[in-house]
Amino acid sequence: MVNETPFERLVIAAYRLPFKLTKTKKGYKAVQNSGGLVSAILALSENFKANNKVLKNSKIVWVGINDNLAENVPPESFENENFDILPVTITPTLNDLFYGGFCNDLIWPLFHYFPSYSVFNNDYYKAYQEANSKYCEELIKIIQPGDFIWIHDYQLMLLPEMIREKIPDATIGFFLHIPFPSFEIFRLLPRRWRESIVKGMLGADLIGFHTHDYTQHFIKCVKRTTGFEVHQNIIYTPNKRVKADAFPIGIDYDKFHDACLKEHVLAEKQKIKLHLARQKLIFSVDRLDYSKGLLLRLKGYETFLEKFPSWHSKAVFNMVVVPSRDNIEKYKKLKKEIESTVGRINGKYSSLAWRPIIYQYKSLSFNELVALYDLSDVGLITPLRDGMNLVAKEYVACQIENKGVLILSEMAGAAAELNEALIINPADNIEMAEAIFKALEMKPEEKHTRLERMQNRISNYNVFTWAFDFFNQTFDTKKLQKLVSVRFINKAISSQIVTDYRKADRRILFLDYDGTLVPFAKFPELATINENTVEIIKKLSNDDKNQVVIVSGRDKKFLEMQFAGVNVSLVAEHGYYIRKGVADWEVTINTGEQWKEAVLPIMNEYVSRCNGTFIEEKTGSIAWHYRNADSDFAQLRLHELRDDLSEIIHHKTDFEILEGHKVLEVKSGKYDKGQAANALLSNQKFGFILAVGDDKTDEFLFKALPDSACSIRVGLNPSFARYNVTDISVLLELLEVLAE
Ligand code: UDP
Repeated sequence: MVNETPFERLVIAAYRLPFKLTKTKKGYKAVQNSGGLVSAILALSENFKANNKVLKNSKIVWVGINDNLAENVPPESFENENFDILPVTITPTLNDLFYGGFCNDLIWPLFHYFPSYSVFNNDYYKAYQEANSKYCEELIKIIQPGDFIWIHDYQLMLLPEMIREKIPDATIGFFLHIPFPSFEIFRLLPRRWRESIVKGMLGADLIGFHTHDYTQHFIKCVKRTTGFEVHQNIIYTPNKRVKADAFPIGIDYDKFHDACLKEHVLAEKQKIKLHLARQKLIFSVDRLDYSKGLLLRLKGYETFLEKFPSWHSKAVFNMVVVPSRDNIEKYKKLKKEIESTVGRINGKYSSLAWRPIIYQYKSLSFNELVALYDLSDVGLITPLRDGMNLVAKEYVACQIENKGVLILSEMAGAAAELNEALIINPADNIEMAEAIFKALEMKPEEKHTRLERMQNRISNYNVFTWAFDFFNQTFDTKKLQKLVSVRFINKAISSQIVTDYRKADRRILFLDYDGTLVPFAKFPELATINENTVEIIKKLSNDDKNQVVIVSGRDKKFLEMQFAGVNVSLVAEHGYYIRKGVADWEVTINTGEQWKEAVLPIMNEYVSRCNGTFIEEKTGSIAWHYRNADSDFAQLRLHELRDDLSEIIHHKTDFEILEGHKVLEVKSGKYDKGQAANALLSNQKFGFILAVGDDKTDEFLFKALPDSACSIRVGLNPSFARYNVTDISVLLELLEVLAE
C-alpha cells in the first residue's frame, strides 16, 4: 500500500452527503448516513487524519445533496473535523424524476438484471441530465489545481464528461458501485442515453468497477456504442487514453475484527447467547431490495427444513431486513411478501419451544451487527445480483474464532474474491438447502482453513488499499496520457512547422486519404472528400513551391474522381500505381492476378462467417473490411483469417498481410507507401517534407523519410511519426494555415 498521494485535496462527488443535516437552534445537527461508500470514505478520512503525510489538506471535500431536501443548507454552514461539506440544491420535484425516476426506476433495476422492472421515461432522462449539471456547477466553483475529483456511482454517470469540458486537465476518477451489465442488457437503453452514459463516464481518467466481469462488460459497451479502440483495458478516446479496471472495494478490516473483543460487543454477544441457548445461528442482514434475493432465501431455508428435519429445534435463522425505500410500491409489496412467507414457514414448522425464523425489520447498531456476525454459525448471503456485498466481507472479518461458514451467492461481486465460501446459485433452493446443511455439519478444521484464506485476502486488500490502488492507477493513467501527449502538436510546435514551411523553397507534402483527409464511413465509396478540404489541397498544390502527393490504399479511379482538376500527384493501392502530376499512371510492379485465385475464396468464406464484413478487390490487392461487424467477433475471425491466409502466402514469399484501420489486405510485399514516396523524392532536394497518415500502412511512409521530415500521425497510436494530432480537424486546421 502506498501512503503518499501526489494530490493536494480529495474532492468526493456522490449522490448524497455523508450526513443528513437538520437545522437546530444552535446550527446544524448531523446524523451519519449508512452505506458502503460512506463507511469507506469515513475510514479513509480517519486514515488521512492519523497520517498527516498523506495529503497537504487532509480534509475531504464532499459534494452531494442533503437527504433532507426541505432544508436549504447554505455552503460552509456545516463544519466537521473530517469533511468540508458542499450541498447541491435540488428541488424535490427534480429529485423525484432524477433519483426516484432515472436512477431507481431505470438504472438500478436494469443494471441489476431486472429489465422488466425498468421504466423508460424521457422526463426522467432530462432530469438526470439537469441534476448532473447541477453537481457540475457546484464542483466548478470549488475545484482547484491539484485536486483529485472522485465521482461515485450510477447517479452521476454524466458528470465526469461535464467537468472535463469545463476543466480539460482535471484529474478525475469515476467508480461504479453497482454491477455494469452485459451489452445485451445495456442496449435496452435508448441509443442517445447509452451513448451519453458511456461518453459521460469516459470523461474520467480512470473508471473503476468491483469486478473484472463488470469491467469487461463496460469495455464491450464502449466498443459497441463508440467504436473506440481498446487495448488491455486502455480506451483510446479521440483526445485521451482512459483506463477501465477492477478495484473490489474493501472494508475497514481491523475495525470489524477488533470490535469483536470490545466491551460493548461482548455484552451484546452475552445477550444473544442467552436467547439462543444451544441452537445454531444462521444469520443474514440486507437492505430491503428485490436484488437481495430475500424471498428465494426463505424458499431455500424452507427446503432445508423440509429435507433435513434432524436440524429442527437445533438451528434458527435470524433474518434482519434493514428498512430502505419502503415508501415505494414495489418495496412495500416485497416487504409484505417477506412477512407473509416468514409467517407461513414459522406457522408450519414452529413448536412451543422453537421458531425456525426470527425476522426483524430494523437497522442494527454497529455493536449488535458485529456481535451477530461473530456469533452466527452460518452467514447466509444470497443476493440475486449485488455490485459487491460488503456484508459478506464484514461477516468474514468478524469470525475471530473461525467458527462460522459463509454461504455466498455467485451473483455477488464479492464471490470473485471470497471463493472459499460455499458458493451457491440463489435461485436453486435445493443447492441452498444442501449448503446450509453442509455448513452446519462442517468440521472445525475445514471452517478454519476456508476462513483464514478469505481473511488474509480481505485484510490485505482492505478499504485503504482499495482507495490508494485507485489513486495510484489514476496517476499512472495520467502519466501515460502525458507520455503520449508530449508528441501532440501544440501551439509552439505548430508555429515551428509553419516557420519551417515558409522558409523552404521546395516542399513536398505526402497526404494519406482515409482517416487523414476524410473520416471513415460505413462503406469506402461513401467516404468522399468535402469541398473545404479540396479547397485547402488546391491552394497548397497551386503554390509553385509545393508538390502535393496523395498517398492512398484506394484504387486509381476513386482517387481520380476525388481529386479531379486538382494539381496533385497520386499514389494508388499503396504504391502499385503512381501518377506524377498530370502525367499517365505508372505501374511500379506487375504481380498479375493469378495469386488471387487462392486468396479470394478464403476471404469470401470469412464474409459469410462474419456478418457486416465485405471484400474490396483492387488490381494489386484484396482487402477484407470489418468496420461494420461486431468488433469482438471480428477480432476472433481476424485471427482465424490471418492464420488461414498465412498458410497460403507463406509459399509466396513476396506476398504479405497488411493491416490497416479495420481492414486486412493481402498484397505483394515488393512495394509500399514508403517506396512510393522514395520514388517521388527521387534524390531531389526538398527544404520541407511533410507526411501525414493514420494507420499502420502509413508507418512505411514515416520510416522511409529522412529524419528532417515533419511526420504526423492522426490519432493516439504510437508511431514512427514525429508528432500526433488527436483528429482530422486539427490536421486540417494546420494545413489551412500552411495554405494561407
Ligand atoms: N449496515 C448498516 N445498518 C444495518 C445493517 C448493515 O449500515 O442495520 C451496513 C453493513 O455493515 C454494510 C452495508 O450496510 O456495510 C451494506 O452494504 P452491502 O454492500 O452489503 O449492501 P448495499 O446496501 O450497499 O446494497
